Amino acid sequence: MDLKKILDDSKYFLSKSELEINENELKKLQYLIQTHSGLYYNKDKIIISDTEYDDLLRKLKYLENKFGLEVKVSNNVGSNLKESSFEKVKHSRPMISLDNTYNEEDLNDFNDRVIKNIILSNIWEEEKSVKYTIEFKFDGLGVELIYKGGNLIQALTRGNGIEGEDVTQNVMQIDNIPKVIDYLDDLEVRGEVIMPISIFEKLNKKSKEEGGKIFSNPRNAASGSIRLLDNTVTKQRKLKFFAYDLANFEEFIKKENINNYYNVIKKLESLGFDISAYFKKCNGINEIIKSIHDFGNTKKQIDFEIDGLVIKVNDISLWKNIGTTQHHPRYAIAYKFPAEILTTKVIGVEHSIGRTGTITPIALLEPIFIGGVTISRATLHNYDEVEKLDIRIGDSVFIKRAGEVIPKIISVIKNVRNSQEIKIKVPEYCPSCDSKVIKDNNKVRYYCDNKCCFEKNVGKLTFAVGKQGFNIDGFGEKQVRLFLKKGIISTLDSIFLIKNKKDEILNLEGFQDKSVNNLVEAVEKSKKVKLSVLITSLGIAGVGKKVSKSLSLLLKDVIKGKQDISELTIDDFELIDDIGSEIAFNVISYFEDIYNKKIVERLVELLEIEYPEQKKANLVFSGKKFCITGSFDNYKRDDLIEIIEKNGGEFVGSISKKLDFLLAGDKAGSKLKKANDLGVFVLSIDDFLLKIDF
Ligand SMILES: [Zn+2]
Repeated sequence: MDLKKILDDSKYFLSKSELEINENELKKLQYLIQTHSGLYYNKDKIIISDTEYDDLLRKLKYLENKFGLEVKVSNNVGSNLKESSFEKVKHSRPMISLDNTYNEEDLNDFNDRVIKNIILSNIWEEEKSVKYTIEFKFDGLGVELIYKGGNLIQALTRGNGIEGEDVTQNVMQIDNIPKVIDYLDDLEVRGEVIMPISIFEKLNKKSKEEGGKIFSNPRNAASGSIRLLDNTVTKQRKLKFFAYDLANFEEFIKKENINNYYNVIKKLESLGFDISAYFKKCNGINEIIKSIHDFGNTKKQIDFEIDGLVIKVNDISLWKNIGTTQHHPRYAIAYKFPAEILTTKVIGVEHSIGRTGTITPIALLEPIFIGGVTISRATLHNYDEVEKLDIRIGDSVFIKRAGEVIPKIISVIKNVRNSQEIKIKVPEYCPSCDSKVIKDNNKVRYYCDNKCCFEKNVGKLTFAVGKQGFNIDGFGEKQVRLFLKKGIISTLDSIFLIKNKKDEILNLEGFQDKSVNNLVEAVEKSKKVKLSVLITSLGIAGVGKKVSKSLSLLLKDVIKGKQDISELTIDDFELIDDIGSEIAFNVISYFEDIYNKKIVERLVELLEIEYPEQKKANLVFSGKKFCITGSFDNYKRDDLIEIIEKNGGEFVGSISKKLDFLLAGDKAGSKLKKANDLGVFVLSIDDFLLKIDF
């Protein structure tokens, strides 16, 4: 099978709208869908993402209907059981899948259809708001568990929905599935088998070391694990099962005298089944939509893949009236999260130079629209990562938009290589200044050591004028780059002489009197600065905002020129919390350099530096660590940090056992929970102010 051609053809259809595809091309699209479906279910070898597959399938469905095809491939894709050696068993009732939606408009349409069907069946006389439930949509493998007389007697995969594979022996190895339940009538519980992400990562790591099979995602790993012939291996895979459906709802609700879905699932939970940790009732579709909005980052906190949320009508007695299409129930729908993984091609590489001289490979991509933005570059982090993923120019890759902004290449689709791909090499010379690139043997780091390297200085000065440093309004990378190029600035101190260069700046394109005056004014304003901010802005490796604060007292006299750096030893540094020998070494090297020393001297002359006071040992918060969460009516976060520090305390960003107090305001979230779990003392704002007699 020519996978490269299949990927190219798929890309072609992905790039066309269904209206642009003609009847002659339909056969090809059918073939593609069948091929992908085969790859998906039987070989754990996937070359397009789920979203892309869904997109192709949607187009095929539309076209098969439009051109009135009698045999519709889109109706039959699913699992192809022929290659499996497990016994096939028919489901007592078909396991039909849910319809998918990606947007609010579709959810509103779904709600309208639900209401319409209830009214049409004469149950309601007028429109009312429907009560729904909402829960995780697990990205795993659908499985049915059959209990008789309280014992688990059989387990089937979803298969093609009509019949599945008998995987009883393997399912018996899943710890969180009850093998015996306190319910003696027949019960057929449906749910999803998943592999926790942490287990998936360990499995792949181990497998790689041993030269074994690498799974492309937790779902494939779960699917592979449940169909292993050796069930002792299945046990090691630590799969989990979550229940969300019954094949025999009617008997169960009659018997248990329950009339809504929520209570059915809660009953299953009481019988010993794990259910979606996120599971709640909502009144009306607007509450559902709000829940989806609020859902936000919950996804990142759980150890298994979910690809959306499932919405169901809570009142089971309405289900029959709302009905089912040939393929999906009408009383439930899956809201899928926006596309996060897509495929694209690496068309080149750029070697970018950071402020400390570190050279980072950046992949140039065929532009791709993902998560609402077009991406054409992705950082490859370092050359070790490039080697690890074996990314080459010309490769097709899976790309994921992690979090909100930074796109990341997660793997290479090696099946489609045509041996024209070019390996990415560490450049021998700095692409900006042509100096020889140096390898840092302790770390995976290559860097340019030239102090006059243009790109390095752009990075350095941009950092210094940015938020972490002097925070000068209207001064960013664009201005730094331009001014450096025109010789208006050179080193950090020269920025503070910019008022003498007004005329030169005015000659540059895009600057007028007003903008130049504003810039000069902003620079003048930034001259009044805390010592720690100045230290951060020097751009010493490893010395960020927090470390700079810790170093302020020690370096005070060195900066003032009253003490030579040679009078300080590494030990002096290591006495300070959070400072190790590496940072100490970097700081000492920086100040030993005569060139840097001159810059600092000039900065001291130009700036109005606020030096820190010697800490008094008996301040009320001396030696205490604080963290802050939530919001406060009368205080900004920074104000509170200042109060803590003024009173001898230390502010830290995260919760740990070492923390002494968590200051919690309104809408405190996960930090508060964690603090409570760890037994950290929680302070309200009033308690806090009381402590310092405010
Ligand atoms: Zn360079």
